[in-house]
Amino acid sequence: MGAPLARFRRCMDVNAVVGGLLRDLAFAQTSQPKMFGYKRAAAIILSLEQSLTLLRRQDGSWPKIPGIGPGSLRVITEVLDTGASPTVESAVAASARREDIHRRRLLRGHFLSRAEVVRILSMSHSSSPTPQDYRGDLQMHSEWSDGTPTLGDIVEACLQRGYAYSAVTDHSYGLAIAGGMTMAQVAEQHEAIATLNAAYGLRFRLIRGIEANISSDGALDLSAEEAKQFELVLAAPHSKLRKADDQTARLTTAIENRDVHILAHPRGRIAGSRAGIIADWDRVFTRAAHEGVAIEIDGDPARQDLDYTLAARALAAGCIFALDSDAHTTSQLRYAETALAHARLAAIPCERVVNCWPVDRLLAWLSHRSSEASH
Ligand SMILES: [Zn+2]
Repeated sequence: MGAPLARFRRCMDVNAVVGGLLRDLAFAQTSQPKMFGYKRAAAIILSLEQSLTLLRRQDGSWPKIPGIGPGSLRVITEVLDTGASPTVESAVAASARREDIHRRRLLRGHFLSRAEVVRILSMSHSSSPTPQDYRGDLQMHSEWSDGTPTLGDIVEACLQRGYAYSAVTDHSYGLAIAGGMTMAQVAEQHEAIATLNAAYGLRFRLIRGIEANISSDGALDLSAEEAKQFELVLAAPHSKLRKADDQTARLTTAIENRDVHILAHPRGRIAGSRAGIIADWDRVFTRAAHEGVAIEIDGDPARQDLDYTLAARALAAGCIFALDSDAHTTSQLRYAETALAHARLAAIPCERVVNCWPVDRLLAWLSHRSSEASH
């Protein structure tokens, strides 16, 4: 093995490279079943806990990886042996979709595979938060909008992860496509949350949150009156995410809204699909730092939004951060670890991460910001 290849193996997120190439191969297929097969293989590789470099046996053979067939294994072996995959490159070159595939390749920057997340979290030399410093998750969805778990499932799953609190943040009514809650449903949900909080007492605190939608002019889909019924308001863009024009004003308007606590998945990017909002990010971050609005690192593997490069700029601007899973099932609560990994790469200290604050400090920050809004 040559020196450049050894360096590739040491420094690269090999699973992310292989996952991306398998997605390319999927899009180069003309048969639907083969396309779905390679897409599924890509998803499996991206969510492996261990790097492929460690999985391969000394003699070069492979253990059985469920869902990975001989076609995918050939790509994996090529990448590990040469740093590239001639199989994928020739399939892409021969494909009628090659321009689309090249466009998608540009939309994979700074995404981490699960194995890379696990590796980053296992490194000890850092003042950035570890999973042990993380006290609660501030974005997740329940059966009340587009998630699957009940509120009770969420509390139990969060306790199992060692959390002291979490916020349930179902979608508001402006996002009907995601089962957004009417204000009547919100009132019912708040009763259910109060019942749970009374039952768990000091063991766990479920925070009444909402994921509000930022419209194209920066307004929320909640009136000020409605927003005040929640302890935590996340504001997030869900539309106009493929536009080429600058949307700095849209985001700064949302940040200046005194009911907003967290700017969630600020770009709205999706891995290999869309780049998300174009903005003067340093201006957005300076505004957020000035207003005391937390910038989210959304840990959904397809989002990873912000990634560590933009998060480092937000840190330099003086921002505080929320590291959230954006889970829609209880098993997806582990996506918070993806957000933690980005925070570590960006060298964000614990002090700047609201999820590392004790519950009293967190609740004081939440109520301080909204009470100033009424002045
Ligand atoms: Zn969202």
